[in-house]
Amino acid sequence: MKKVRSLRCPTCRKIVLASDPEYPFCSERCRAIDLGKWASGAYVISTPLNDPETDDFNYSRSRKPE
Ligand SMILES: [Zn+2]
Repeated sequence: MKKVRSLRCPTCRKIVLASDPEYPFCSERCRAIDLGKWASGAYVISTPLNDPETDDFNYSRSRKPE
């Protein structure tokens, strides 16, 4: 059986094998690009940072809890 694991490079969507030295990226370049996205805030962080004493808190209370 084949046991080669692979996924797509998060940056360019190219197939990357687990044996690749830059896994899960296809290249050092794509790794650097991805790190740069994180550093620049390109990815949306889902962690709520609302201050409980702001209107945002009242707004969230009126919504169905998760
Ligand atoms: Zn790539």
